[in-house]
Amino acid sequence: MGMKVTLSIIKADIGSIGGHTVPSPELLKICTERAAREKGRLLIDYLVFHCGDDISILMSHQKGAGNQEIHAIAWEAFRASTDKAKSQGLYGAGQDLLVDAFSGNIRGMGPQIAEMQFEERPNEALMVMAADKTEPGAYNLPLYLSFADPMYSPGLLLSIELHAGFRFVIMDVEHTEGDRLITLDAPERLYDIAALLRDTHRYSIESIWSRKYPHEPAAVVSTTRLRNIAGRYVGKDDPVAIVRTQKIFPATEEFGPPFALGAFVAGDTRGSHNLPLMPVPVNTPASTFFCCPMVSALGISMHDGIFTGPVDLFADPFWNQVRDQIAVKAMDMRKQGFFEPAMLPYSELEYGGIVTRLERLDKEFKLHAGAAGDGDGKRPRGGAKHAVKNNKGKVKARGR
Ligand SMILES: [Mg+2]
Repeated sequence: MGMKVTLSIIKADIGSIGGHTVPSPELLKICTERAAREKGRLLIDYLVFHCGDDISILMSHQKGAGNQEIHAIAWEAFRASTDKAKSQGLYGAGQDLLVDAFSGNIRGMGPQIAEMQFEERPNEALMVMAADKTEPGAYNLPLYLSFADPMYSPGLLLSIELHAGFRFVIMDVEHTEGDRLITLDAPERLYDIAALLRDTHRYSIESIWSRKYPHEPAAVVSTTRLRNIAGRYVGKDDPVAIVRTQKIFPATEEFGPPFALGAFVAGDTRGSHNLPLMPVPVNTPASTFFCCPMVSALGISMHDGIFTGPVDLFADPFWNQVRDQIAVKAMDMRKQGFFEPAMLPYSELEYGGIVTRLERLDKEFKLHAGAAGDGDGKRPRGGAKHAVKNNKGKVKARGR
């Protein structure tokens, strides 16, 4: 029997150098020192790294998910880093800490968090992912392909351990009365899963579970949408995820081709555009090519909660060609500037400026007298109704 271990990864943008790039070395040092202080006490082990401008703190411990003491380690590290970031004049200093006082659970306070508790296997293989300049739904397609599509995940055919498929827990992050979850089993409910996951703004994979061993979690993704907390644009959500690999789960290398697709996701400059998700080595700066969304993956072995590694999973030479192809895709998309789908539809725009502009323009519209096929001066079918407000007071796109 392996020991019961909890993994918690907590991530925040505390500020970066010269715009949206990288956290300063001093911020990383503070976070590392804070976590190191707890090793052998609250924590079994820890790992601090960054993806673009976000600092991630990965912690192994035995306190279970949602533990106040564990969350406080990350919160205090980010608080102390915020003071440093302000003293250094870093851009967006403390931007992801949306409340002043720690309430006991970091969920809903700004930082992204993903946690998973399980009985450790003798050779526990893990993949930890962090993305920058994008949203939680950015993992939908790669994880769908890795856990539910035998075209990408041959283990579903080849391994008896994977034959039963996987259970998807999907979160609706735009529900008006708060986040809600649905549980769907693949392959039986594959088309239902697909119908939801295709909408990466509204639906996000929250967790994935083995069906042959229903108590075994396979993946967890942070699902917080910052704008739902702050009610305004405060930066993209930049999700983190923990995935267990090998044996009863897909093999680590089965996750590569789905990420090599470089699927278009929302994010980028001003959180308002679509560009492909670029797999990059860990500790890569956010790109000055329009803050193209990026994702890093670390492979880790764990025994008795102690990490060995990490290995940088998107650093081997193969990924250079993948990145070249995705860069071409990104540059092509940018050529059409603000025209959809390069810029997001109005329903997803994070910046208030264009919303104010549309509201002003809405007042200038006049009914089209004598429209074709109508003739009575009534509003033409399919007419301009794009400036309808949704329930959050944001301008909603036509047809959404
Ligand atoms: Mg970020």
